[in-house]
Amino acid sequence: MKFYVTTPIYYVNDEPTVGHAYTTIAADVLARYHRLRGDDVLFTTGTDENGQKNVEAAEAQGLEAQVFVDQMAARFRQEWGDLSIAYDDFIRTTEKRHGRAVQSFFEALHRNGDLYVGEYEGWYCVSDETYFREADLIDGRCPNPECGKAVEWVSEPAHFFRFSKYGERLLKYIEEHPGFLLPEFRKNEVVSFIKGGLRDACVSRKSAWGTPLPSTIPESEGAVVYVWADALINYLTCAGYPDDEERFAKYWPADVHIMAKDIFVRFHATLWPAMLMSAGLPLPKRVMAHGYWTLGGEKISKSRGGAMPRPGPVLNAIASETGCPRSRAVDALRYYMLREVPFGLDGEFSGEALLGRYADDLANDLGNLLHRVLPMIARYRQGRIPAPTPPEPELLEAAVSACKGWEEAAETLDFRSGLEAIWRFLSAANRYVDHKAPWSLAKAGDQEGLDRVLYSAAEAMRIAAVLVASVMPNTADEIEKQLGLDGWQRSWEQASRWGLLPGGQEIGERTPLFPRPEPSRAASDGGGKAARPDSTPSSKEKAMISFKEFQKLDLRVGEVLGAEAIPGADKLLKLTVDIGEEQRTMVAGIALSYRPEDLVGKKVVVVANLEPATIRGVRSDGMILAGWVKGDDKSITLVAPERPLPNGVSVS
Ligand SMILES: [Zn+2]
Repeated sequence: MKFYVTTPIYYVNDEPTVGHAYTTIAADVLARYHRLRGDDVLFTTGTDENGQKNVEAAEAQGLEAQVFVDQMAARFRQEWGDLSIAYDDFIRTTEKRHGRAVQSFFEALHRNGDLYVGEYEGWYCVSDETYFREADLIDGRCPNPECGKAVEWVSEPAHFFRFSKYGERLLKYIEEHPGFLLPEFRKNEVVSFIKGGLRDACVSRKSAWGTPLPSTIPESEGAVVYVWADALINYLTCAGYPDDEERFAKYWPADVHIMAKDIFVRFHATLWPAMLMSAGLPLPKRVMAHGYWTLGGEKISKSRGGAMPRPGPVLNAIASETGCPRSRAVDALRYYMLREVPFGLDGEFSGEALLGRYADDLANDLGNLLHRVLPMIARYRQGRIPAPTPPEPELLEAAVSACKGWEEAAETLDFRSGLEAIWRFLSAANRYVDHKAPWSLAKAGDQEGLDRVLYSAAEAMRIAAVLVASVMPNTADEIEKQLGLDGWQRSWEQASRWGLLPGGQEIGERTPLFPRPEPSRAASDGGGKAARPDSTPSSKEKAMISFKEFQKLDLRVGEVLGAEAIPGADKLLKLTVDIGEEQRTMVAGIALSYRPEDLVGKKVVVVANLEPATIRGVRSDGMILAGWVKGDDKSITLVAPERPLPNGVSVS
């Protein structure tokens, strides 16, 4: 099977932003997923270097146009490399191969009688490279709400494409191919745009910068192909048009064109298919428009460069807030953008939401699973994976349904639902470890039971690596490395099979997959109520939570192994607590009620998944539950199980 996915080629008049990154990440995720399936993938992106706008941007910097576009193309390539985007072809419209494709394509339009010379008169916006009717202008300026710049009156002979001829055929095609335009609600916009009447499209300009019209076309002297028509043809160039017929037959039509909504209705969903019909070529299978990201409520698109953050500073911020390696910050950004907002709708880009996703979904659900399993394998099995055991039905079923969920989502480009399906698998795996409580099996000396749980949990991590690999390729590599599978040949079908993780092999070096963010407020809020009894709001102020929210709390029985005073802090004690599979340090504000020596051996209830906080220079990793009478620090009383329970048992 072949799979051909494209991004638009980006204008190089401005630097790449997270908006450009969004489109390119989505295409990369599809490409990676299809490669995992063993498909022959062609994933293309590139830069749109023709057009008057680039000439002006070059002039503004005092550069020759070619020097400027060379520099900018290099910037885009570098950015995509930094975001782990693995394209197969990076096309630049100033390349010779593209010039040949454009000219051949225009000859085909001409042969079909769809080009004619007319007089173009109209208001032209240089910024949008678009002509507008007088009636469309707003206060005499460009009607694009993102632009609003002054327009200039242009009157010159120009070539026109008989766009108007294709309205009926387009409507029929859209009706007969339900999956052609996505999302559904934008398809309706396209249909009304066509029904409103298509005007023939001006497809040439007098300019020295651009692809010259073929000389076989009348009055081609001094005319170049209008930049939008020129840009769209890149999708054919990359597939081998017109020189490499074998390649073209293999890859064309594209399986999916992905772009932002601003270039969907007028270009990718109408003009482009009409041009292809005229040239006698098949139409792309799917054309998908995603929404805009907004920042602080302001709409951002490529014509408003500067407002949207560059990917580099966002990655730096993630890495410095959390202490994660750069490659993991890349994966966090990729994950956030596809999980946060349904693909197709607008969304607000928020650093806070990004770090929230990092903490909840990546550090907790994904990272925590690995860091619960591997230390136990290290501790109980000398760092070797136990021999494969039969499938645990709840894990295998969850894996199969995660695969199905992702496969369906990849068809409809519903990345969010796909990731939700994968996260249901991770929840099932975390639940499995909770229920089986391997630390108790170890204590009870149940070796066979312990082997089965440890193997199954590690096998679940191997499956998780395959499931997340398209969205988070670096994370998948790291999970495999820590499982001792460095260099493992991954494939999609491995995600729904059990027992592939070899037994007896040594696990790799353990490092936190997604280190937990260091909350900047840790010092001020004291790291939990046990440390700051007076900060508790009254019950009236507290909002209701759902059962699902409650389930996020990892409450466990622990046992105090050691306690000591913290110099200079008369209310605080530093405790060492055994919570089953590990020992944690926790700071608790209970020194006025308990002496350190009274605490050793006490059973307590702890919140095991509270973000760590540093309190008086001591890193507190978890919180001990206690009750007290407001205003009376001496009344603090620890919450303990009413009858003894093993350490690590979950409380709910
Ligand atoms: Zn404009």
